[in-house]
Amino acid sequence: MREVGRGGRVPSPAGEAALTLGSDERERLLRAARGAKGSEVCGLLLGRRRGRDVAVERVLRLANAAAGGAAAGSFRIRPVDHLRAERSALEEGLVVVGVWHSHPAGGARPSRVDCAAAVRGWVQVIVAPAASGGSDLRAWEVEDGEPRELALRAL
Ligand SMILES: [Zn+2]
Repeated sequence: MREVGRGGRVPSPAGEAALTLGSDERERLLRAARGAKGSEVCGLLLGRRRGRDVAVERVLRLANAAAGGAAAGSFRIRPVDHLRAERSALEEGLVVVGVWHSHPAGGARPSRVDCAAAVRGWVQVIVAPAASGGSDLRAWEVEDGEPRELALRAL
């Protein structure tokens, strides 16, 4: 059964973009971030777009190829991994809808670097297991360097 607005999250008002993320996939992201012991982890999101809304169907964890290593506080996905992800999405009738990464020590808001590196048309999901007070997983769209938060819908 489909539940909307579970866990205190409210459905987005009409006209606002939303990201749908199943609880299994959400749990997978949080587990990956928590298990990385301070290192930044990353991957791609496979799913579908319906207008401005994005539904994530599958979360891929990929190697963090950042210069200086994952502990350096940044992330980079190798082009070959991106290509493989595009191919497997295609085989499943999906598309790559965005990217996710973790902020081991900070909040789930995109950094200036994240905004500058944002791919147009992709969502950014940021997992921040150590976030205090706020949510530990938030979704963003970056347009002209400005982050705009997407409402989260659980499945
Ligand atoms: Zn970041």
